[in-house]
Amino acid sequence: IMVAVSIIFLIIAAFAGHLLAGKAMIPIKQAFFRQREFVADASHELRTPLSVIKLSVEAVQNDKDQKLSSFSTQVLDDMNSEIRRMTKLVTDLLTLARADAGATNIIKEKFDLAAMAETLIRSVQPLAVVKGVKLEMRGKEMLPIMADRERISQLLLILIDNAIKYTPVGGKVDVLLTRTATPKSFVMIAVSDTGEGISENDRIFERFYRVDKARSREEGGTGLGLSIAKWIVDVHGGRIKVESTLGKGSSFIVSLPL
Ligand code: ADP
Repeated sequence: IMVAVSIIFLIIAAFAGHLLAGKAMIPIKQAFFRQREFVADASHELRTPLSVIKLSVEAVQNDKDQKLSSFSTQVLDDMNSEIRRMTKLVTDLLTLARADAGATNIIKEKFDLAAMAETLIRSVQPLAVVKGVKLEMRGKEMLPIMADRERISQLLLILIDNAIKYTPVGGKVDVLLTRTATPKSFVMIAVSDTGEGISENDRIFERFYRVDKARSREEGGTGLGLSIAKWIVDVHGGRIKVESTLGKGSSFIVSLPL
C-alpha cells in the first residue's frame, strides 16, 4: 500500500510540476498564436480575389458594347458597395491581426499634428458636405509631436469619419487640438459631434461591437474602427475616452504624450 501511495503521490507531484512549469500551457499558447496567424494569413489571401472581382465588375460596368438593363446596373452597383465593405473589413481585420501578433512596425517621427490634421480635414471635407454636416477645426497653433504619422492620421480619420457618419443632416463636427500641461506635456485631440450619441459607452471599443448593427451597415461600417483607434492610442502610450449624451452628441477625447 505504501509503495502504491508513494507512486500515486509521485505522479501527482510530477503532473503538478509539469503544470507549474507552464508546460501544459504550451499547446494552448501555440493554438492561440496559430489562430492569430491564421486570421492574418486569411485576411491577406482574401485581398487578391477581392481586387480581381472589383476589376471584373468595373470592366462590365464600363463595357461600351453592352447596354445594361436597369436591373443589371443596380445589381452591379450593389456588388460594388459590398466589395467596398468587404475590402474595408479585410483591411481592418489584417490591421488588428498584425497588431495582435506584434508584427506592426511603429515608426515614430517628429511632425506638426496641427498641420497634419488640417490637411486631413481638407481631404474629408467633401464627405461632410455630401452628408450636410459642418466640419470644422479649432486650435491651429503648431503642435510638434513624436509619433507614427500614418497611424495618427488613421486614428483621426476613424474618429472624424464616425462623427460624420453618426451625425444627421444640419449637424456639426468639431475637431479641437490643444496642449495640456498637467500632469505632463500631453496633446489633446477632441472630436465632437452633434449626432445621435451613444448609450453603451464602454463597449464601443470592443471588436465588432456596434450599438445599432443596421445603422453601422448602412454607413459602410465594420465595427472595427474604434478597436483600431484604441490600439493606435495604446501603442503611443496615450488614452482615449468618450463622453456622450443620447440625442445630443458625442466627444471622443484622445490624449497623447508630446
Ligand atoms: P463602425 O464601423 O460600426 O462605425 P466603430 O468601431 O468605428 O465601428 O464604432 C463602433 C460603434 O460605436 C458604431 O457602430 C456606433 O454604434 C458607435 N459610434 C462610434 N462613433 C460614434 C459617434 N461619433 N456617434 C455615435 N455613435 C458612434
